[in-house]
Amino acid sequence: MKKKISFGTILILILLALLMRGVKQNETVQEEAKPSAPISESGDLRVHYIDVEQGDSIFIQLPNGETMLIDAGENDMGETVCDYIGAQGDTKIDYLVGTHPHSDHIGGLDTVIEAFDIGTLYLPDVSHDTKTFMDVVETAKVKGVKAEKAKAGVEVLKTENLAVQFLSPVSAEYEEMNDYSAVVSVTYGNNRFLFMGDAEYTVENQLKGSIGVYDVLKVGHHGSNSSSTANFLEQVQPKYAVISCGTDNKYGHPTQQVLSRLERFGCEIFRTDEQGNVVAISDGSEIHFETER
Ligand SMILES: [Zn+2]
Repeated sequence: MKKKISFGTILILILLALLMRGVKQNETVQEEAKPSAPISESGDLRVHYIDVEQGDSIFIQLPNGETMLIDAGENDMGETVCDYIGAQGDTKIDYLVGTHPHSDHIGGLDTVIEAFDIGTLYLPDVSHDTKTFMDVVETAKVKGVKAEKAKAGVEVLKTENLAVQFLSPVSAEYEEMNDYSAVVSVTYGNNRFLFMGDAEYTVENQLKGSIGVYDVLKVGHHGSNSSSTANFLEQVQPKYAVISCGTDNKYGHPTQQVLSRLERFGCEIFRTDEQGNVVAISDGSEIHFETER
């Protein structure tokens, strides 16, 4: 039987075809109008605790595409730090922090300043009469690097998901050079990282009460008895503790006392002297660690 196609059916088919074409065109237009994805808090936060033997150096790749370096180890570790950062594919350090003028923290900074494009250099407001300290200040000056004082309340960066700020130095003057340490707080989504530099119990006592809870603690002063007091750990409740120190160092860092204290508070401990470079990766809700060995 021959099927008759009515005029009405043809009209409906034509209308449908036009309608679908219209939808398709709309889709294309929308796609073209979409702006290219901005660099935002869509990436991971990667915190690299670089093995610089007895000293500190922490390279942070922020989820917004910017970078931060906290310390650069002793003078002879500058190249190691530069090589490490270079291997990550980064050429700029947006925020460079020298926690305090001791050589195991700022020693390699002059090499870093020479090698990379530097955004802002943060140092605490304290001077030190050593060549190491003067080298850093001079190199930054010659290169025209913008310098800011690191102190409690200074906000480096704040967006909805990401906050980087200094919690200390709280006071203008301290008896111990270690206590001038720039203490850095990084919050990404629900994950929080605390970097103590070499701050000791005096600073811990100043901070407790307002500090809040952190997932990862860069243990103060390489795991010395002068830091990581029970009162402080009770407040911070770190799940993970990272200790930056050298194998068989002459100071006996970290001490058994501090290790036991951290264990008592249920911390999983990472050590650069035993595991080499330690990397913490956060997606804003969960953190996992990778170690060199
Ligand atoms: Zn130190």
